[in-house]
Amino acid sequence: MPPESAQSGDPKAVLVEKLKLAQGFLSGTKLSQELGMSRQTLRTHLAALRNKGYRIRAVPRRGYLLEYAPDKLYPWEIAPFLPRFSATQQYHYSEDTDSTQNTLIALGIAGAGEGTLVAAEEQTKGRGRLGRTWLSRHGGLYFSLLLRPDFLPLARASQLSLMLGCACIRGIRTATGIQCESKWPNDLFLSGKKVGGILSEAAAEADSIQFLAAGIGLNVNIPHRELPREATSLAKEYGRDCSRSRLLRHIIREIHAWYSILRTDGFEPIRACWEEHCFLWGTRVKITLPHTVREGTAHGIDKQGFFLLRTDQGLIESYSAGDITSVRY
Ligand code: ATP
Repeated sequence: MPPESAQSGDPKAVLVEKLKLAQGFLSGTKLSQELGMSRQTLRTHLAALRNKGYRIRAVPRRGYLLEYAPDKLYPWEIAPFLPRFSATQQYHYSEDTDSTQNTLIALGIAGAGEGTLVAAEEQTKGRGRLGRTWLSRHGGLYFSLLLRPDFLPLARASQLSLMLGCACIRGIRTATGIQCESKWPNDLFLSGKKVGGILSEAAAEADSIQFLAAGIGLNVNIPHRELPREATSLAKEYGRDCSRSRLLRHIIREIHAWYSILRTDGFEPIRACWEEHCFLWGTRVKITLPHTVREGTAHGIDKQGFFLLRTDQGLIESYSAGDITSVRY
């Protein structure tokens, strides 16, 4: 299915919002006046919404009543609520795609503005770090956001990934009340199981970052039986489905806020947020590197964002990358 892009001033955004906020029926005459459109145009927009799964009751002399709105990431549900990263940011939405990262990277190469967002209901080739597969079934949240951090040298690119982790944890909490935890460097956990992942891919030139494709996959309402064994979903912990559009809006707002913090105050507030939310500290872990495995106690992260391991000899070693696994005896 071809992606849909948000058109600025799409009247469906205002129409849906008015229907959602209404306490009962909304008069057709009043609606068309408020939206500055003819009754016929209003009926065309309502028909388009019904086609997209909205249930809108029409009763002569009473007007329209929204009975059900699908929890989809349609452009009119998302684009008007996004914070402004740049004047040229765009929102691209599709039912399914191979990978939101692939689409966003192509847009980034073509010069898309900072804040450009790609979201899909499903991915057929969702990926994690090192080309690992990210299972992206219907019911999850999959999106990629374009950042152009001209204030950050390439050597600090990993701080962006940690910044995204903080933003996700805070965004999930504001949208649902659920408190997730982080696992260095890019995983989100809930009740000891993986609930989401962050994939940061940078296009770089010499020592500067041209753009960063920030990909996030979150198990929101995926049925438990469809998830990998070591995974969970927000819905399972919450006891009912969570609104994905609400989550997306809040997470992007948090990314905008934390990105500004990184720009103006540096990495320290993000480091502190990680210290607070990462569940590894003080536990026995193994860090797997390309040619070696080290074991010790997870100690924290340093002022650059590197993982600190305390060895059994009491030395503190720092790592910029690696796979962390908990060691249980
Ligand atoms: P880990 O350290 O947890 O092994 P990773 O951080 O190296 O993973 P990621 O890029 O975060 O790798 O994610 C890929 C891995 O996550 C896959 O190899 C698979 O084990 C697991 N996985 C894939 N899809 C999901 C999902 N929807 N929910 C939770 N875990 C998943």
